[in-house]
Amino acid sequence: MNALGLLNAVAEAIYLLSFALVLRRAIRRPTPSHADMALFFGSLAVVIVASRVAPVVGTPEWIVVAEVAAVMVLPYALLRLVGSFSTVRPALMRTTEAVLAASVIAAVLSRGTPPGAVVLAMVGYFCAVFLYCALRFIREARAAHGVTQRRLQSVSLGSALIGATLLAAGVEPFLSGVPAAIVDAITQTFALCSGVAYYVGFVPPLMLKRAWQAPELDAFLKQATTLPHLPTTYDVVRALERSAASTVGAPATIGLWDEERNVLRFIPTNPPAEVVEVRPGELAGGRAFSSGRVEFSADPLHDHPEGAETYRRTGVGATIAAPISSGEHRVGVLCLYAPRPPFFAESDMELAGLLADQAAAVLEARALIERSAGLQAREAAARLKEDFLSAAAHDLKTPLTTVLAQAQFLEARAKRDPAAGADIAGLERLARAAERLGTLVTDILDAARLEQKHLVGEREPTDLGAVVATIAARYDDAATRIQVDVRCPVVASVDRRRIEQLLDNLVENATKYSTDHTPVAIELWQDGETARIAVRDQGIGIPAVDLPHIFDRFSRGSNVDDRRFHGMGLGLYICRGIAEEHGGRIWAESAVGEGSTFHVALPLSGEGRPN
Ligand code: ADP
Repeated sequence: MNALGLLNAVAEAIYLLSFALVLRRAIRRPTPSHADMALFFGSLAVVIVASRVAPVVGTPEWIVVAEVAAVMVLPYALLRLVGSFSTVRPALMRTTEAVLAASVIAAVLSRGTPPGAVVLAMVGYFCAVFLYCALRFIREARAAHGVTQRRLQSVSLGSALIGATLLAAGVEPFLSGVPAAIVDAITQTFALCSGVAYYVGFVPPLMLKRAWQAPELDAFLKQATTLPHLPTTYDVVRALERSAASTVGAPATIGLWDEERNVLRFIPTNPPAEVVEVRPGELAGGRAFSSGRVEFSADPLHDHPEGAETYRRTGVGATIAAPISSGEHRVGVLCLYAPRPPFFAESDMELAGLLADQAAAVLEARALIERSAGLQAREAAARLKEDFLSAAAHDLKTPLTTVLAQAQFLEARAKRDPAAGADIAGLERLARAAERLGTLVTDILDAARLEQKHLVGEREPTDLGAVVATIAARYDDAATRIQVDVRCPVVASVDRRRIEQLLDNLVENATKYSTDHTPVAIELWQDGETARIAVRDQGIGIPAVDLPHIFDRFSRGSNVDDRRFHGMGLGLYICRGIAEEHGGRIWAESAVGEGSTFHVALPLSGEGRPN
């Protein structure tokens, strides 16, 4: 085989390979564009195979007719391809169909050998159509973006070169002065180059596609690092939509998943317009969100009839929707719209998927920033509340002590001398309210001391059984039974006042949150070098979600109604502080409706201050 033969064989191999690839794709994903590509490369394959087989089998007439028919399909198929991404005048389409039919009839009538004038006319016709297609592809390439633009550029180059190949081959018999070898070399070179250009344009290898996508993704990523810091999530979504639209070259919208309402929310660009809510499975976005895959629709009016009216009004003829998710967490969906199915829908789908992944990273980063800002704000608010309360508590302490003492004195005097006619019930209420106020003020001041780790004072060997007995006696009354179970004498080195406060708090809570006056049990035992106390109740219990937080400052269970159960959420915080300053710990077990058990473990030695 000489060099020309080799050139020819390589060009033919490229065309046949391209045909195999586009045919496979058309079978896997049958869209009009894929069918037209298969028709175009199929015709070329017929021409190539016929030209190889004909000399071997003695050039029968039917082969020549098939070859002519296949050649004449080429301009028609290419024009259909142009028509699948922009409008081709119907008259032009009809003309190519008529020429195709006429040339097949002429080939049959002339028994495969049309006269020279007809051949020349055909060559002229070919060149005109291919040049027209090349120009249309160039025009569309200039309007397109990214991979689509590069693919269209390749296709336009392939069309121009194939036109030139056919021109050179067609005029060869009429060029008497030029050596045939030169014309052949030119023809074969054009054929090879057009084969490569078409291959690259219609079925580019993955590596090339990735390389083509890189600049767009780079530009997107460069922005992506700054996007999460925009003032609001709305701004971030808008910026992502703009970037995606300019990368793909089609309008883009992002819908964010609303966990509470179970809908995707699309916020309109122009604020007076209403937020669009889409349920999973609905429209292009909802479907991609449910399936977790990039979804392409070449006919949204048919595929999503529920949105037909909107699609028709906004001139949407094709949609690509890509789910935005980070790991298992579904964040939203990215939707791209086009007036007609994209020529290279697959590339656009891949790009949409990549952009959605980037958008997920940006939105996750944004959510993190918002969460940490929220945490900081909550921390600051809690600090402010605490500072304010402890300042107020300081100032309240002295007058409150006087009010409390006076209320208790008046209550006692009224009870001693009922005949004096004082309002005993009113004075009792006054004294209880003053006591409650006193407890609140003490709690606030203790919480502030706890912050400084100055809550626990001098420790001394203390009989914890006696402490338990004191507290039990305080709460054991007609309404509540306190069951005490002291399994052995336990003496620990502790700040007695604070341990009493801790136990008082636990038993007070146990009675307060036992609305049916069910019994409360206090258990005391020794476990090695540790004193163990448990306070059990059969009250309302604590929801599992709240359990990890109930020892935090100002934290209250979500099943606790402020009007029914008074409290500030400081008691357990102080209890934890007391236990930990003693080198011990406190924890709770609970089930809603069944009751709670609070456990305390204290080292007997009193050593091991954590601070
Ligand atoms: P307060 O009782 O003033 O709200 P605490 O810090 O003592 O504050 O308790 C924090 C929260 O823990 C309470 O609001 C309540 O929701 C829950 N809690 C504490 N003890 C019990 C208990 N024995 N039974 C049910 N819930 C409890």
